[in-house]
Amino acid sequence: MSIDFQNYLSTTAKGLEPSGIRKFFDLAASMEDVISLGVGEPDFVTPWNIREAAIEALKDGHTSYTANAGLLELRQEISKYLKRNFQTSYQPEDQVIVTVGASQSLDLAFRAILNPGDEVLIIEPAFVSYTALVTLAGGVPIRIATYAENDFKVTPKQLEAAITDRTKAILLCSPSNPTGSCLNRAELTEIAQVVDKHDLLVVTDEIYAELSYDEEFTSFAAIPGMYDRTILINGFSKGFAMTGWRLGFLAAPREFIQVMVKIYQFTTMCAPTMLQLGALEALRNSTEQVEKMRQHYWRRRNFMVQSLRKIGLDCHTPGGAFYVFPSIQKTGLTSEQFAARLLQEEKVAVVPGNAFGDSGEGYIRCSYAASIEQLEIAMQRIGRFVKSLETTQEN
Ligand code: PMP
Repeated sequence: MSIDFQNYLSTTAKGLEPSGIRKFFDLAASMEDVISLGVGEPDFVTPWNIREAAIEALKDGHTSYTANAGLLELRQEISKYLKRNFQTSYQPEDQVIVTVGASQSLDLAFRAILNPGDEVLIIEPAFVSYTALVTLAGGVPIRIATYAENDFKVTPKQLEAAITDRTKAILLCSPSNPTGSCLNRAELTEIAQVVDKHDLLVVTDEIYAELSYDEEFTSFAAIPGMYDRTILINGFSKGFAMTGWRLGFLAAPREFIQVMVKIYQFTTMCAPTMLQLGALEALRNSTEQVEKMRQHYWRRRNFMVQSLRKIGLDCHTPGGAFYVFPSIQKTGLTSEQFAARLLQEEKVAVVPGNAFGDSGEGYIRCSYAASIEQLEIAMQRIGRFVKSLETTQEN
């Protein structure tokens, strides 16, 4: 008897929308001479001393499991790092978990706090995984649209309007993927007042914290009164150029951590041991390299914003991460049409803004995690493409 595979699949899993980013990646990968501004990962290789530490760990035979929450030594370093850089205080013994990427921290956080039907406010344009992870954990993602006029920042009024008696948490991401927008202390404090008033939690994705250019980064957990309401997520992927290592971490009140460790021990056991030993080196001895990479991104950010404006595309100045999010509305194309034609006609891969939610329509995400030489060529090509559209419009 033949099987109808669809009958055996989970309705929730089947219902997930495929990531709009992957589609363009796959298309770009099948073409030659493409400059990709599509990827969300550093173009730098992990600093050598960090790689060497992991190699040494393997050579020394560190091939067993660690504690579920991760090597205590690494949690101690994470705790110091959070204190030193973000003025937040977490006990390494029972308030920190080392996870398989920030992705898994997000998954754990939602699984630990959500009951079926609980709502999580997601500020869009947003990282593609958020709505899927909330849905998989049984929650309901509630999307709040933000716009370039307000630098893609959510206002307390918008949050108030979206809150219901089912709202459990707000997900914050600053600096943001895809807009690069950053929430400063004053803005976070305003959000905190809403959180407090409605007795909510905040899951704060601070994976781009190291890549802030204009204002000092503020962690949501450091806002007075918010410590007990915050699950803080960060990791090594972006600032330390360690995406392939799949190492992240989360810090939270111990009551949350206890439940998350329980889930983690059944689903994953622990993050890879030899890589955790490499990450120790990242936190101990890479401040200078991280700062050097930040300087590169900062210069590229300035170049990208200037070039896009010269081309005639409106572009807000992103305060962090490694993305610019210019408007392509004046071209009359949808963001998907723009991205598809730019790839075909000029061989530059960008991500259409609608991949990050409806309010991303009319924008494209360009990553500047590429060499300045590549960015220069990409900007020439984008300039030529936009000009060709203007000429066609005139005709
Ligand atoms: N959060 C955001 C906002 C991201 O952009 C990404 C990666 N693109 C992640 C989380 C996941 O990071 P990791 O590689 O640590 O899983």
